[in-house]
Amino acid sequence: MKLQLARLIKNICYAAGCASAVLSLALKSAPQTAQRWLLFGGIALLVLGFLVSVTFYRCPHCHRVLPANRGKMDDCPYCKLPLRDTK
Ligand SMILES: [Zn+2]
Repeated sequence: MKLQLARLIKNICYAAGCASAVLSLALKSAPQTAQRWLLFGGIALLVLGFLVSVTFYRCPHCHRVLPANRGKMDDCPYCKLPLRDTK
């Protein structure tokens, strides 16, 4: 998987997971089953985003997991090599 794609999927999963979890807490009038599904769905998305970032969001050179809380990086913070796709 390409680095940019892994990053995109991770960000979407985190954003959607957080939104879903917050929504489940905010919608107090919604039926309890709907709230529960939103919460579980949000947690599942967060876990998925975490798994994608740990599995695919790695430096193509030294294969260490890149820090998820940083913006777009040009170089690996560990081996300092450029993070361009090597394909
Ligand atoms: Zn590296």
